[in-house]
Amino acid sequence: VPVDSATQRGNIKVVVRVRPTNSREAATAYKNVVVAVDEKLILFDPKEDTGGFYYHGVKQTGNRDMLKKPHKDLKFCFDQVYGPQQNNTEIFTGTIVPILDTILNGFNCSVFAYGATGAGKTYTMLGTPENPGLTFLTVMELYRRLAQMTEEYEHEVVVAYLEVYNETVRDLLNPEVTGPLNVLENPSGVVIPNLSMHKPKDESQLLQMLADGNSLRTQHATDLNSESSRSHAVFQVFISLRSRYADMRTNVKVAKLVMIDLAGSERGSATGFQGARFREGASINKSLLALGNCINALADGKRHIPFRDSKLTRILKDSLGGNCKTVMIANVGPSDMSYEDTYNTLRYADRAKRI
Ligand code: ADP
Ligand code: MG
Repeated sequence: VPVDSATQRGNIKVVVRVRPTNSREAATAYKNVVVAVDEKLILFDPKEDTGGFYYHGVKQTGNRDMLKKPHKDLKFCFDQVYGPQQNNTEIFTGTIVPILDTILNGFNCSVFAYGATGAGKTYTMLGTPENPGLTFLTVMELYRRLAQMTEEYEHEVVVAYLEVYNETVRDLLNPEVTGPLNVLENPSGVVIPNLSMHKPKDESQLLQMLADGNSLRTQHATDLNSESSRSHAVFQVFISLRSRYADMRTNVKVAKLVMIDLAGSERGSATGFQGARFREGASINKSLLALGNCINALADGKRHIPFRDSKLTRILKDSLGGNCKTVMIANVGPSDMSYEDTYNTLRYADRAKRI
């Protein structure tokens, strides 16, 4: 069993996932700008041609085009680098399985998919029927473990699903509630009054809830990707465990796991937004910016963490820092078609790993 790497000394695990080449990239003579040297080290825009995503050594290349801008040629080290051939189950095993004990011991945890539109966030969190994502795999595994503990503990699992869109919080599992939801803080944590809570009776009901919630997400076509979502989708799982033997009052463990498919991290200007779309872009940047600032403040060991700066970070106040465990999955595309986005995502993720 490998020992904790230097990057994993804190409570945050930062991994990068590089998605496979898509048909648009395949149809053009695209160039690979992300190269995995080993399972933790990634090269961005290397000077030399290294022969694809998996490092095969340096190839001899012909005359370089001297008019081209210089290669950034950067190395980044993360807790793990996942390539185009790795599926959701492998990512689940590497990132979430190690924190399940923390949750079952009563500590809050959070998991984010970060990245530009089209980088693979929704594929990672939600997945497809054939390749279910981390949200589904996590809840299934939690149910399995709880079933094994049933002689000793009574348990309850409750889920809620909301979105933050334009700094407004909406319930994705209760279309009847039209007004925005409030986010409050009380001594026991963050509370969202009127957010509907659900107990799926089995896995198919849970999948159905996720699908129903996703169909309620606020979506708009952008020039970059018609499937893009400008909202943060926040899935919450509440687990309470009550010992069957000990004094009830002292032996209830309650934990919350928050799993977030973040809005696209690309800059508004790059997506050709106009009119109302500009406002959306600005708000999304506000929440992502606030999340970045909170992560940076935690990374620097600051005492004041600016959780109050956005709705998203208010919701995360009791699930980030302290004894909480956080997983950040930074999603990127493989090619120079997403050069700036990939560069920005790798830098954001690099900063996060220092918590
Ligand atoms: P995002 O949510 O970040 O905007 P998506 O998850 O929607 O991006 O991914 C964009 C497209 O790429 C989708 O068609 C998705 O199915 C595909 N895709 C993303 N990641 C993978 C992957 N690891 N394997 C196969 N297809 C993927
Ligand atoms: Mg998406």
